[in-house]
Amino acid sequence: MKKTLLCLLTAACLLTAAAKKPKLVLVIAIDQFRYDYLTRYRGEYHAGFDRLLTKGAVFTNARYRHFPPLTALGHSVILSGAMPSVSGIAGNDWYDREEGQHVTSVSDSHTQLVGGNGGPGCSPHRLLVSTVGDELKMADGGKSRVIGISLKDRAAILLVGHMADGAYWFDPVSGNFVSSTYYFRELPGWVKDFNDSRPAEKYRGVTWLNHKLPENLQELYGTSDESPLESSSFGNELVELLAERAVTAEQLGRRDFTDVLAISFTSNDKVGHDYGPDSPEAHDAAVSADRLIEKLFQTVDRQVGLDNVLVVLTGDHGAAPSPEVNALRKMPGGRILVTTLKQVAQAALEKKYGAGDWVAGTWDASVYLNQAPIARQKLDPAEVDRAAAQALMAMPHIARVYTREEIAHGELLRDDIGRLITNGFNVRRGPDIEVVTDPYWIVSDKPASHTSPYGYDLHVPVIFMGPGIRAGRYDGSIAVNDVAPTLATILDVETPSGSVGRVLSEIFAQ
Ligand SMILES: [Zn+2]
Repeated sequence: MKKTLLCLLTAACLLTAAAKKPKLVLVIAIDQFRYDYLTRYRGEYHAGFDRLLTKGAVFTNARYRHFPPLTALGHSVILSGAMPSVSGIAGNDWYDREEGQHVTSVSDSHTQLVGGNGGPGCSPHRLLVSTVGDELKMADGGKSRVIGISLKDRAAILLVGHMADGAYWFDPVSGNFVSSTYYFRELPGWVKDFNDSRPAEKYRGVTWLNHKLPENLQELYGTSDESPLESSSFGNELVELLAERAVTAEQLGRRDFTDVLAISFTSNDKVGHDYGPDSPEAHDAAVSADRLIEKLFQTVDRQVGLDNVLVVLTGDHGAAPSPEVNALRKMPGGRILVTTLKQVAQAALEKKYGAGDWVAGTWDASVYLNQAPIARQKLDPAEVDRAAAQALMAMPHIARVYTREEIAHGELLRDDIGRLITNGFNVRRGPDIEVVTDPYWIVSDKPASHTSPYGYDLHVPVIFMGPGIRAGRYDGSIAVNDVAPTLATILDVETPSGSVGRVLSEIFAQ
């Protein structure tokens, strides 16, 4: 009896010791943030990054283990730990064979936008797995508050998952931060107040580096694809400001339950695409993120006390150098246009099977074929895929091409790239043909992009900082999938349902 009691007490003590729970988990994802941005500009970081690098557990070799390395996939991994093959977030966009239409990772025709000018909304309904936020809420009956903020809908939504109290993103049509009826019928008062202060308008006509931003508001906001405001360091200021408001208004980290605030800085991605990762613009976006993160830390410290906050910083993918920059360095590389992939597949299928609208859509290096002409001619879909794949493989600077059938049946080279493709491929949603370029080749018409399974696209920072975390440099290889199960362990909640990560217990203070 005595022995049993002792065991129970010891077990309880151990559990208590492992359960030094933070009041708030602050997750900061930076969109298109290569790991080497931390080392390259280290001497210029005196604020948030400096604090993280000196007080955090810094992983120097964290990589994504899926292909393609895109925003939706990266953000879905961070707090789920799941591979896109399982989470269902197989692209930023894809052609949905069941719906018979182009969808995005978060588009949801059953919802409406809230806070903008209406129109179809978004939700996490295509995410098939749980996140750390979901697990927290399932464990405490929904008492934890979970909020996602970004300029991009997919980043805000996919970080936080299904049970989030709200996800907010920037709507270039209205210039407001908006959400969707998935979460609520009306924006919370604090978001309305923020929008009423017209925070984005102060950037009209302002000069960023040597770029004068448009005076006209619609031109300044642009579209979700091309936005002068988002493609400047100023875009991140809006995300940071709204995050501060969220901390204050939602009383995050002030109650007996752990809350989650997950934000994603979008501008680094837009700047990276428009100017390239080696540009002064990308440099400025990195250094200004350092300042913005510290600004948020200051607010969080005042409201919650940083001692009570577990911070996780990471990126959703890296980026390839601009081919033109690489050429000057005598490094390889080049550019293949998305439209070229489409034309090559279309021409090959026309030649073999006759006229028809053979390609449903091409997103980055993923090609989707139209099933209608295949069915009409009673063709074998796998054979049609192979015909298109053969033509694509004949293009210069294409390293590999795999068809849907090959990937689904595991008929890939059994090496790292084969595994990356398998991990990123969802059998129902994946493309008919997946194209892998040679290293340093990008599939994009922009100055730079992230469309490959190579290190520069996969290597990102992972830093944990906060109570119970042993600061230091950790050089072992880890996967970004390890973040979610590590958080779940710290928070003493169930590991997210699709997680394949390992618990980074080496960072736990003894
Ligand atoms: Zn991007």
